[in-house]
Amino acid sequence: MDTQLLAADPSGIAQAAAFLSKGGVVAFPTETVYGLGADAHSAEAVAKVFEVKNRPRFDPTIVHVATPADAEPLWTDVPPVARRLMEAFWPGPLTLVLPKAPSVPDIVTAGLPTVAVRMPAHKVALEMIAAAGRPIAAPSANRFGRSSPTHHDHVLGDLDGLIDAVLAAGPTAVGIESTVLSLAVSPPRLLRPGGTPLEALREHVPDLRVDPPQGPSASPGTLPRHYLPATPLFLLEAGDATCVGEILERRRCAILAYRRRWEGFGKIEVLADSGDLRQAAAQLFAALRRLDAAGLAAIVAEPVPEEGLGLAIMDRLRRASSGRACLAGEHVQVQR
Ligand code: AMP
Ligand code: MG
Repeated sequence: MDTQLLAADPSGIAQAAAFLSKGGVVAFPTETVYGLGADAHSAEAVAKVFEVKNRPRFDPTIVHVATPADAEPLWTDVPPVARRLMEAFWPGPLTLVLPKAPSVPDIVTAGLPTVAVRMPAHKVALEMIAAAGRPIAAPSANRFGRSSPTHHDHVLGDLDGLIDAVLAAGPTAVGIESTVLSLAVSPPRLLRPGGTPLEALREHVPDLRVDPPQGPSASPGTLPRHYLPATPLFLLEAGDATCVGEILERRRCAILAYRRRWEGFGKIEVLADSGDLRQAAAQLFAALRRLDAAGLAAIVAEPVPEEGLGLAIMDRLRRASSGRACLAGEHVQVQR
């Protein structure tokens, strides 16, 4: 792919917006660091961002908007404190986390029921997002393991040939990432310190908690870091059926399949008939959620190839898995 270096002028901004409207991936400046943006309502476009970053796992991504009014449809419920904070700190390096609207694809939030949103304080970013006419999901514009880019030269050094375009606006002003604040819990909790000082936030949120969330699960007042299905999930072993454990009928199990249509299961989701891992990644979280909702005894997940986005998919399946499974005729043997 030919990566276009676009001037940060009206014509460059219009071209960047056109790429985004077509499901493309564009690096753009914010006041913190350069972001790698895609249409937040397109699971496939967001999957491309993960593919380009080469990150071996899925992390929730911040959605960038051009006005506070554009943030509201991304959330199900907007409490008064959120409006006060948007008024006081937007545009600026403050990201607000609230329960997500169903229209936000699960891959944007890595399966979490909440979505993080901010309005960047950068003229070029705001004009680009407004011209695209859609919210833009964007993590930092660097490959996995490299530092966050604070100049368009860093972006090109890392991602030339992998993305549609870079908006060239020189160095960013703040250079550190946004403060992330969850309003989805009571009292509100600081999730990441950043460019908006804590003291300033406390004036609007006197009961703000800053201690790190305790424990891996969702005990009261803490935040889950990852979506985990409630139904036990078992990774299917390749090769011969050697595992011996609890025996379940196939029809009592759901299967998360990679490309083939398995027979006999109570419910099936196929991630990508064609084997396209980007498509598989785009489907993953929503498919898991649907299987979980079926309320069967177990979810059996077929491994995907561990290359490209397959690494992040397998990372997620391993985190979600409570054991392994093998197939024996009409039965599934599961071992915890
Ligand atoms: P970045 O990669 O710099 O864009 O960082 C995104 C930050 O926002 C990470 O620290 C995430 O954990 C956090 N974040 C994004 N979405 C959510 C969410 N739904 N809930 C909690 N934290 C989030
Ligand atoms: Mg980053």
